[in-house]
Amino acid sequence: MSDHDASASEELIAALLGPDGPELTCEECFEHLDRYVDVTLADGDADSAVPGMLAHLTGCPACRDDHDSLMEYVQHAGDATPPGSVQAP
Ligand SMILES: [Zn+2]
Repeated sequence: MSDHDASASEELIAALLGPDGPELTCEECFEHLDRYVDVTLADGDADSAVPGMLAHLTGCPACRDDHDSLMEYVQHAGDATPPGSVQAP
């Protein structure tokens, strides 16, 4: 029953690739990372701003690590508006 095995590994690949939709490469992911973090910190819809990013971060530990580092960096860099405090415009 190699047939069954084939569909099982297809499912595994689909799980690794994430949901259907635009695929980001690590390069594209890196390219859009600061924008993604910006939108996230602005309480925007980061997943819509950079489609495919969330799926890539979910499946790519290396880029998720970059994302976490940048997120931390940006939060500390913008100490005029500490995370958790909302400033009226
Ligand atoms: Zn990646």
